[in-house]
Amino acid sequence: MADTFRALRIEKNEDSQTMNLIDLSESDLMEGNVVVDISHSTLNYKDGLAMTGSSPIVRTFPMIPGIDFSGTVRSSEDTKFSKGDRVVLNGYGLSESHFGGYSERARVKSDHLLKLPENISNKQAMAIGTAGYTAMLCVLGLEDSGIQPESGEVLVTGASGGVGSVAISILSSLGYSVVASTGRLSESDYLTGLGAKLIIDRNELSEPSRPLGKERWIAAVDSVGSQTLVNVIAQTQYGGAVSACGLAQGMDLPLTVLPFILRGISLVGIDSVMAPMNKRERAWSRLSTDLDMKKLNEMVVETTLEEVPTFAEAILAGQVRGRVVVNIS
Ligand code: NDP
Repeated sequence: MADTFRALRIEKNEDSQTMNLIDLSESDLMEGNVVVDISHSTLNYKDGLAMTGSSPIVRTFPMIPGIDFSGTVRSSEDTKFSKGDRVVLNGYGLSESHFGGYSERARVKSDHLLKLPENISNKQAMAIGTAGYTAMLCVLGLEDSGIQPESGEVLVTGASGGVGSVAISILSSLGYSVVASTGRLSESDYLTGLGAKLIIDRNELSEPSRPLGKERWIAAVDSVGSQTLVNVIAQTQYGGAVSACGLAQGMDLPLTVLPFILRGISLVGIDSVMAPMNKRERAWSRLSTDLDMKKLNEMVVETTLEEVPTFAEAILAGQVRGRVVVNIS
């Protein structure tokens, strides 16, 4: 019998795109020097954009979506990896120009793979996923700007989402006092359970306001962008720092230079997709020590390859809480 495996594939027609669960064989996969049996993938905001076609994430069709995966090496032409190694891949063009994680098998470049820390299971790696790894990059960005737990309160926007939930959990485990901004006040218990000390309504930050506001927090992790990020920066205390990674409200940034030239605020840009390997290793190593796995479990719902398309619209509408793990195998 032919050696086939299942994958979800996006096909592009003249003016629309469709998604089908199909059987493929290894010869259908793209170039690479390591073949991985994928056990888990996940649902990120960007996966919602790719699956619905509402933003041009996919650059070549047909495409297997899924911007990340964890799994076990099946075969490797690079001596850095051996059969049986547990690995993770975030970004590096998955679901854009290279087949992604919504497949039982992948062929990828060894330079893009990272061996998982021993105490992080394949499922936990995808409970963290690109959203959680990005949250860690945001925290590292604040630390590199001199922010420490005793510096003051740290704001997390988009708090109930994937990046937000993991950021709250990491920051509170590290001893920070965390303020969570959310549009879902009904999720207050969830956010408090992750470690938020104070919860604010995101409407406080979403409308145009003064270029410099009352100083409220020393640092922030922002996954929302647009007017929210403008107000977050305008209300950051003297010498503070803001890690910006997302655009859930929008990609515009109508701000003034005043917070930078009068309060010395640092704006730290966070990219997870092409982040160099040393940064990734640092982030995954810190995730293995600084993320409370019990809290991680509280953030997760699990789904399958068949069901994941049904979550695409929901994550874009901001209706998904925490993290969605796709159990592939
Ligand atoms: P989620 O959808 O899980 O979380 C986003 C959260 O933002 C929502 O849960 C909601 O939180 C809040 N939100 C949604 N819409 C709005 C709005 N109109 N105004 C204000 N807040 C809103 O997505 P992820 O956590 O996976 O990703 C968050 C962002 O980070 C996305 O923009 C994504 O593209 C980006 N990202 C960037 C990466 C990078 O490399 N730079 C990597 C990963 C993600 P609540 O209901 O609590 O208000």
